[in-house]
Amino acid sequence: MRLTDDRYSRDWRRMELAVRMIGHEARTGTIRQWTGLSDDRIRKLYRTYLESAPATTPVRRHRGKTPTQTGYFLRNRELRRHAALLAGIYTRLGLLDLDAVTGLPVRRGPPLAWAPLALTAYEAYLDLCPAVRISFEHASQLLNALWIATELDLAPCCRCSALMLVDRLRRSASPCTFCETPAPGGSADG
Ligand SMILES: [Zn+2]
Repeated sequence: MRLTDDRYSRDWRRMELAVRMIGHEARTGTIRQWTGLSDDRIRKLYRTYLESAPATTPVRRHRGKTPTQTGYFLRNRELRRHAALLAGIYTRLGLLDLDAVTGLPVRRGPPLAWAPLALTAYEAYLDLCPAVRISFEHASQLLNALWIATELDLAPCCRCSALMLVDRLRRSASPCTFCETPAPGGSADG
């Protein structure tokens, strides 16, 4: 009886997570990775969600492949700032570990029961930023990229020590977006 109760509550938590993810326009493949639910159950949840969602808040269902270009987060100053903020939230919630002395990432991979924490992190980012620049899918991609750390990584800024995103293939001692000197004309994007 106890086992059945545990299974039921675990299943319920997965469904609740999936519904929140649908609200953020997550792709089926991402929902499967985060919740372990089958595609068929995710499709049914989509249908139920759409039937009960108010007509004023349409949810787009994204099909096809999940974006995989990590260079996206380094594309311009604004995206670098938003990605650094989101990575900071991931760190505060224990999804990424930093060495207390050096401030450098410690590789431990995903913690147990990471999916609800990762969703809470993304929702905290939405609360903090009225002008959201990172979609749920990109937030998921960022977390995966930082766990793997083959292309993207975190490092403290060489001037202010704030956490910033770095390109592992072109690692240099450049400062964070708040410390860097603006380009002539006022914009440092590019
Ligand atoms: Zn800085």
